[in-house]
Amino acid sequence: MSAKLQAPRGTFDVLPADAAPRHGVERAAQRILEAAGYRRIETPAFESTELFARGVGEATDIVQKEMFSFEEYSLRPEGTAPVCRAYLEHGMHKLAQPVKLWYLGAYFRHERPQAGRYRQFWQVGAEAIGSHDPSVDAEIIVLLHALLGELGARELRLRLASLGTPASRAGYRELLQAYLREHADDLSPEARTRIDLNPLRAFDAKDAATQRVMDRAPRLADHLDAEDREHFDAVTELLGRAGVEWELDDRLVRGLDYYTRTIFEFTSDALGAQSGVGGGGRYDGLIEQLGGQPTPGCGFAAGVERMLLAAEERPQPEAGCDLFLAWEPSERSDAFALATEARRAGLAAQLDLAGRSIKGQMKQADRAGARYVAILHPDGTVLRDMDSGQEEKVERPGVVAGVLKGRHAL
Ligand code: ATP
Ligand code: MG
Repeated sequence: MSAKLQAPRGTFDVLPADAAPRHGVERAAQRILEAAGYRRIETPAFESTELFARGVGEATDIVQKEMFSFEEYSLRPEGTAPVCRAYLEHGMHKLAQPVKLWYLGAYFRHERPQAGRYRQFWQVGAEAIGSHDPSVDAEIIVLLHALLGELGARELRLRLASLGTPASRAGYRELLQAYLREHADDLSPEARTRIDLNPLRAFDAKDAATQRVMDRAPRLADHLDAEDREHFDAVTELLGRAGVEWELDDRLVRGLDYYTRTIFEFTSDALGAQSGVGGGGRYDGLIEQLGGQPTPGCGFAAGVERMLLAAEERPQPEAGCDLFLAWEPSERSDAFALATEARRAGLAAQLDLAGRSIKGQMKQADRAGARYVAILHPDGTVLRDMDSGQEEKVERPGVVAGVLKGRHAL
């Protein structure tokens, strides 16, 4: 006997009943981001593995453990590196800067599946490429805040920090490395092996002993230079002007190597262990890392499933049905033609597709929530108003006009 076929572990089907709230996320994202001048971009679902090795970072969990790779390609685990690749490939530096882009699509990470953690999930993201100005950082944060608000995400917190620049970070990095080496015996094996490549990640450790060491570790916030601090202060001043509350989190590290200066994360206390709803930051070194001229950038990415988990469930309006066409066997082709005509006229029209009895078709029309039903008999046509129950004999060519008139009268 062959095994039962199922969706792969960590993936899910979006069934029709789940589609409406997801579509709501897309509509809200489109409205909010496009109103701010962001234009949609879509990049391929897979890219060369090298793009992510260079653009996300060799020493990150994503690249080391979470990519689905085949031949020289990987399914995209995130969207920023691909969007920056597209910016370079299409010479977008020639456009007015910053170039403001948004995207929504499926992303793939080989993780242990849990509530809110999947191997294929969807992200909405926005990137503003080509400006150092702190207003970009603030705008990116304010737009994600607006999207989360629009979706009704509950118990939100915004954590914010500055990572400085690679130059201002270098001295601190050495300091932290020395501290970590001093306490190497108390670190998890993972944190220990990362001392050289990615010491900051130790702040993100789940292991209790490592966390205790990190409680007393030197903080980057105390080692930023004056320009970093000025940039950070400007971002927070603008957030204040927009009425967005935030808290400083000087242990915040993000799982990608490319961040500089501003990093942020929105979490929802309404979610369990997987509390991260969306985050992002500034990545001034990334485009150069991918082979371009030094070009600043800043963006966010938010998980569609986590946003929906964090949001209050709301009743979704049904699609509606203006006209249902019921037909006796000899009238099939007229019913089909009328359905086509009705749809072309902008009506939501359905017809029976299973050869039911008239009684069965009336039940079907009821289930569809039809406003009118046209019943096509060999000797004439009856139009039934499903609200009042009134029926009248009509001429077939007048059915669509009749429903349109009825709809306007409402
Ligand atoms: P986490 O700490 O939960 O692993 P992350 O830091 O890896 O998140 P990002 O790379 O910043 O997440 O991705 C942005 C958003 O995408 C997250 O805030 C989350 O909402 C969503 N996300 C990330 N990984 C997954 C996943 N495996 N399944 C579902 N959503 C995810
Ligand atoms: Mg992760």
